Amino acid sequence: MSRPQNYPLSISTKGTQDHYTGRWGVLKPFFDEKLSPCRHRCPGSIHIPKFMNLVQDQNLTDAWRTICEENPMPRITGRVCFHPCEEDCLRQNLDQPIAIHQVERFVGDWAFKNGLRHFEPTGDLTGPRLAVIGSGPAGIGCCYHLLRLGYQVSLFEAMPELGGLLRYGIPGYRLPKDVLSEELEMILGSWVGLHPGVKIGRDISWEEIQSDFEGIFLGPGAQQSISLGLEGEEIGGVADGLDFLKTVEANPFIRPGQRVLILGGGNTAFDVARAVLRLQGLPLILYRRSKEEMPAFEDEIMEAEEEGIEVRTLISPRGIVRDEEGLKGLTCVRNRITDLGPDGRRGFVPIEGSDHFMAGDFIVTAFGHLADAEALPSGVKVVHGSVTVTAQGAAGSGGVFAGGDVTAAPRSVIHALASGKRGALGLDAYFKHQKEVRPDKFTPLPLVKADQINLHYFSQSLRMVPERRLATERVSDFHEIQATLTPEAAAQEASRCVKCGFCNACGNCAFFCPDLAVCLDPGNQTILIDDRYCKGCCICVEECPRGVLSVEVET
Ligand SMILES: Cc1cc2nc3c(=O)[nH]c(=O)nc-3n(C[C@H](O)[C@H](O)[C@H](O)COP(=O)(O)OP(=O)(O)OC[C@H]3O[C@@H](n4cnc5c(N)ncnc54)[C@H](O)[C@@H]3O)c2cc1C
Ligand code: SF4
Ligand code: SF4
Repeated sequence: MSRPQNYPLSISTKGTQDHYTGRWGVLKPFFDEKLSPCRHRCPGSIHIPKFMNLVQDQNLTDAWRTICEENPMPRITGRVCFHPCEEDCLRQNLDQPIAIHQVERFVGDWAFKNGLRHFEPTGDLTGPRLAVIGSGPAGIGCCYHLLRLGYQVSLFEAMPELGGLLRYGIPGYRLPKDVLSEELEMILGSWVGLHPGVKIGRDISWEEIQSDFEGIFLGPGAQQSISLGLEGEEIGGVADGLDFLKTVEANPFIRPGQRVLILGGGNTAFDVARAVLRLQGLPLILYRRSKEEMPAFEDEIMEAEEEGIEVRTLISPRGIVRDEEGLKGLTCVRNRITDLGPDGRRGFVPIEGSDHFMAGDFIVTAFGHLADAEALPSGVKVVHGSVTVTAQGAAGSGGVFAGGDVTAAPRSVIHALASGKRGALGLDAYFKHQKEVRPDKFTPLPLVKADQINLHYFSQSLRMVPERRLATERVSDFHEIQATLTPEAAAQEASRCVKCGFCNACGNCAFFCPDLAVCLDPGNQTILIDDRYCKGCCICVEECPRGVLSVEVET
């Protein structure tokens, strides 16, 4: 068919390069990386989409270095972190959240096996001499970041071995002690002056430390136990949970008793119960509130239940029962739950007339611990059993900073590690007379929203689960329960990650752009949008699988 002669159609004889369609536009897409919800929830702010992308690409060295920007202990957090990051993972809108902690653990184990080192100082460490008190995750996190900033650090630890609760609290079936020792060796090397078995305030005075060092980081944890408050608890047969776990760590063959009553609902209560089971005892956990209010981490409760540990809730002890042969048990009362309190938890009241006897020949209390105000330097303020700190972690005037369980922060390994970093940055800013330190969180980045992610680009796949020993087999020893993911499984799990808000140069935007206005900068893998050709259709914004691009009105 021939074209009518007078039909007013303009036909271009030129290529797309000569058509500056950009002049049509009123909307303008732009490269706008965002904060992924998982990273937002990680107390250590680990760049999860970035390290997942590197694992998927088999670049494990850079994946490990990305994690270590924030957290020097991925082998440890990969094993014991309660992984709040996974709760907000957007992949669960398609199938199941990414097993972030498992991939993190794999990367940490791989780095150790392949001889990677955190820190290779090129010259002598200079700068002010700093003392870190306590070798738990808060102290270790602080040492690590101070080393990276070039400071000379001395670490003092009251116990004979380093690690704090990682060594003397968390049992070996969850965190093998050789993994801890290897990780500490990798981080501290010979660069930190180590002083194990030295308690400040007992072996060296605080005044001496303050005159010998220009700055101090306090990471002594919370060591003061909360007593049961019942008559006769000092006579014998009653132990504090942490003391009990320390004894088991030193002697894993003790027999605490036949029927052990454990009072509390946190991690300590569950670890004590699981240790008792492994020592051939019969543990029974008694908790005064409901199961929903238990502060223990979900995984720990689930594993204890698998092992057959009995938990009775809404029960409080009222008295210790003894006869001439020794401890016989507890008199207890049943409780009724009440409405939500100001702390967001349900309270409880005793049900009068519900008193009953609970047989047991050993009692372990696990009510938590407080900072020991008597064992801290003067000038440090303690309120309700915790050291008060500023947003930068300063705990008093004159270069004293604090972090971890001694402060009012949530009690977890990754919170303690993050507070150690905050302390290091705070000390650095203090010595440089800066008012501001780098913010802990990446607040300047906008949080990516679920509706900005295009899950239809991803097909359903199962979350990778590492091998786990059967409950019947694992209760007879303290060996680790869970294996590390295989390299194939870790790469597969990393490939399930959407990389929310993070550009991994997939090129989808360039593929869909009808005006060939989008290309990828090959150097640093950012998206370049050529305004001369972009007419603002914003297909690229709509089609980005990860919500990286945003749109604004052109002015
Ligand atoms: C049984 C148990 C199980 C837990 N399980 C988990 C878990 O699975 N996951 C998780 O994330 N968290 C867990 N936690 C919590 C976590 O272990 C703590 O939040 C974390 O260890 C706190 O770190 P920190 O460095 O502040 O203190 P700590 O780990 O307590 O270390 C403080 C160190 O300072 C030393 N010290 C104290 N005073 C002095 C002094 N004057 N001079 C020199 N040294 C001193 C102490 O000896 C100690 O070694 C658990 C806690 C317990 C008790
Ligand atoms: S440290 Fe914990 S919260 Fe952070 S990425 Fe690892 S598992 Fe998640
Ligand atoms: S899919 Fe990946 S980037 Fe997105 S929230 Fe989950 S772990 Fe984070």
